[in-house]
Amino acid sequence: MSNSSVNRATFDEVMVPTYAPGDVIPVSGEGARVWDQEGNEYIDLAGGIAVTALGHSHPGVMAALQEQAAKIWHVSNVMTNEPALQLGQYLCENTFAEKAFFANSGAEANEAAFKLARRYSWDHHGDGRHEIIAFDGSFHGRTLFTVAVGGQPKYLDGFRPGPEGVRHATFNDAASVKEQISDRTCAIVVEPVQGEGGVRPADYGFLRELRRICDDNGLLLIFDEVQCGVGRTGRLYAYQDYHVEPDILTTAKALGNGFPISAMLTRADIAASFTVGTHGTTYGGNPLACAVARRVLELVNTKEVLDGVPKRQQRLSDWLEAMAEETGLFRDVRGRGLLMGAELAAPYDENTKAFVSAALEAGVLVLVAGGTVLRFAPPLNIPMPDLNEALDRLEAAWKALS
Ligand SMILES: *Cc1c(COP(=O)(O)O)cnc(C)c1O
Repeated sequence: MSNSSVNRATFDEVMVPTYAPGDVIPVSGEGARVWDQEGNEYIDLAGGIAVTALGHSHPGVMAALQEQAAKIWHVSNVMTNEPALQLGQYLCENTFAEKAFFANSGAEANEAAFKLARRYSWDHHGDGRHEIIAFDGSFHGRTLFTVAVGGQPKYLDGFRPGPEGVRHATFNDAASVKEQISDRTCAIVVEPVQGEGGVRPADYGFLRELRRICDDNGLLLIFDEVQCGVGRTGRLYAYQDYHVEPDILTTAKALGNGFPISAMLTRADIAASFTVGTHGTTYGGNPLACAVARRVLELVNTKEVLDGVPKRQQRLSDWLEAMAEETGLFRDVRGRGLLMGAELAAPYDENTKAFVSAALEAGVLVLVAGGTVLRFAPPLNIPMPDLNEALDRLEAAWKALS
C-alpha cells in the first residue's frame, strides 16, 4: 500500500496536459512485473514503449548505474569521459558504425541525423540539395524538425510553419520513392519496423531497394531504429536482420532500458561533416547514461537474450493468430521479433481503448499503435511462465469483449 499524497488527480492539477495517463500509477517493478500504488500486480507486455527490454530493476543494469553514480555524474563536453568512450567503442565494434554521437532522446538522435544529412550534402554538393524523403505513417519524434519529417501531418497542426524540404512517400512502395527524388534530395529516412504508425515491418526487398536507390542517386540512407533496435528483432539492430546497411542509424528507447540516452551512428566519412561547433547537447554522453547503456548492450547482445526472442515471438504470434481465428477480433497480426501488432477488426477497431482497459483490469500492460492496433513490446527476456500467464489473462479479458 502506498501512503503517497499524490494520485492521478494530481496530474490534472499540476501537469501540462500533453498526455492522458491511465488511473494506475506504477510504483515498482521487477522483471516483467509491475506494481501500482494499491499493490495490484501487472505483467508488462509494453516495456514502457519498447524501452525496458531487459525488464524492470535488472540487477546488472542497476549495478552499472550505482557503480557510476558513486564515481562521477557529469563533466560537460569540454572534457570527455570514460563511459562515453567505452560505449562509443562498443557500438563501433558491434555495428556498421565508425563514429557515434550521443544525445538524450530518440527525437534528438533523429534531429542530429537530419542535420548531419543536410550538412554532409552541403559539404559535398553545395546549396539547395537539402530535401529529406520520409514515409507516410512514420514517427521520428516531437521536435519541430522531427514532426515535420514524420508522416503524421496532424502532429504539425498549430505549430506551422515547420522546417521546409521534407517529402513523403508510401511505405513499402519503392516506386513512390523514386517519384519524389530530384536534384534537391539529400537523404531517405525509414523505420525498418514502423512502430507508432501501427507496427508495420518493412518488406525485406523494400529496404534493399531503398539502399539501391540511395547508391544510384548519391543519397544517405537513415534507419530510425529508435523503437526496433537493441535486440527487438532478435538481432542487435534490425538492419542486421534485413542485411541492409544504412549510412546513419539512430537508436534510443531500449538503449538505456529506462535511463534517457540516444545515439546517432554513422561512418567516418559522413561524421566528418559535423566539425567542431556544428552540433551538440549538454547531457549527450552523460557518464551515468553511457555506463547504463553499455551494460544494456552487453546484456542484450548475447546468444541467451537474442536467441530467446524468436521463441517468445512464436508463442505470442501463435496465440494472436489463434485468437484471431477463434474470436474474429483481429484482422491482421504482424511484426518482427518482439514488436508485434494485432490490428482490430470492425467493429472492435472503433474502441481500441476498451481492449487496453480490459487488459489492465486483468493485470496486463499492452499498448496501442496507429489507433486500431494492439501493440506488444514485452521485455526480450520475459520468462515464459510470465508470458503464458499474461496471455491467459488477456484471453479471458478479450474473449469477454468479443
Ligand atoms: C519513440 C520514437 C522516437 C522518438 O523518441 P523520443 O525518445 O520520444 O524522442 C523516434 N522514432 C521512433 C521510431 C520512435 O519509436
